Amino acid sequence: MLADRAGTIARVSNISNGAAVSLEMPRIPAVRNRLRDNPVSAPKRVLLAAPRGYCAGVDRAVIAVEKALDRFGSPVYVRKQIVHNVHVVSSLEKKGAIFVDEVDEVPEGAHIVFSAHGVAPSVVQGAADRNLDAIDATCPLVTKVHREATRFARDDYEILLIGHVGHEEVEGTMGHAPGRTTLVNSPADVPNIVVNNPDHLVWLSQTTLSVDETMQTVRLLRERFPNLQDPPSDDICYATQNRQVAIKKVAESADLVIVVGSANSSNTVRLVDVALENGATAAHRVDYASEIQQEWLEGVSTVGVTSGASVPEVLVQQVLDDLADAGYADVQQIVTAEEDLMFSLPKELRTDANGQPDERGLGGRVRRLDWQRQ
Ligand code: SF4
Repeated sequence: MLADRAGTIARVSNISNGAAVSLEMPRIPAVRNRLRDNPVSAPKRVLLAAPRGYCAGVDRAVIAVEKALDRFGSPVYVRKQIVHNVHVVSSLEKKGAIFVDEVDEVPEGAHIVFSAHGVAPSVVQGAADRNLDAIDATCPLVTKVHREATRFARDDYEILLIGHVGHEEVEGTMGHAPGRTTLVNSPADVPNIVVNNPDHLVWLSQTTLSVDETMQTVRLLRERFPNLQDPPSDDICYATQNRQVAIKKVAESADLVIVVGSANSSNTVRLVDVALENGATAAHRVDYASEIQQEWLEGVSTVGVTSGASVPEVLVQQVLDDLADAGYADVQQIVTAEEDLMFSLPKELRTDANGQPDERGLGGRVRRLDWQRQ
């Protein structure tokens, strides 16, 4: 059974100096018994994908804001949404975080956190120019792509960046190789791409794309540019890939898939696409359980459930509660991978064994355990 149906789900983070902290995401009031238990011919069940929900980069970024508030007091400013989830953002706002679009909205000398999606060097410079105390919560796997872009640009490559127009991560990565990056938004863009030297070309990608669609884009790019180089390692991150593999397995047997996550969360939206491409009869994204529509359940025997990498488990629990009200109380978890990746906190927030600031150490390594604690 799933843990903690009645109360708050606690996220437990391991701290390398031996101290443990319990960070909580508030449970929102559920609207219970909203959905009817309508009859269907086959037994009703839920297939719950695992892994799902928080990845190591999101956990680190959210904890970074919480720890910055603890250490420096409110307000702490955050450039853009720290992660793409409305519930996480509103929970942090209640704790004293102020979200802004650009650094020039922040009072001089204040603390600012850069989001998990990363920033261009010009943003870092803009913060320095305003004398802001910056805490960089960019996911290390996004930083890896930034480094690749910087290195290939320095070596005079042209970069074809596969990613979505306007996404913050894409803007940050392009900012690391200005003038040398062409954005490839979809396979349909490929015929129109213009490059200067097709023999000195590399592709990189946003970390949260559909693996299958990205590979299709790369195949088309390579047909046009046979000497196109691959990135040194996968840019689509482990969390995105793992969640797509899990929902593929679930979708094979699901009449309906419900993906919990926000509309601006790229990896969440991809999970809906992947479910539909892999056998689900229908798939819908919801921020909250209250958005599930009664008519979605008509004639449905098996409901698949998953969540994007920026979604706290509490929101999934509420979907399961509502589905149980509608007769889907049999929950089987489909596990396709185990995850135990940990990232160090941003260096500005690390502490030594005595709790004193220590940028050199690993103090404050974070680890997400919530979906495994079931
Ligand atoms: S989805 Fe991947 S790249 Fe994005 S924060 Fe999570 S681990 Fe990092």
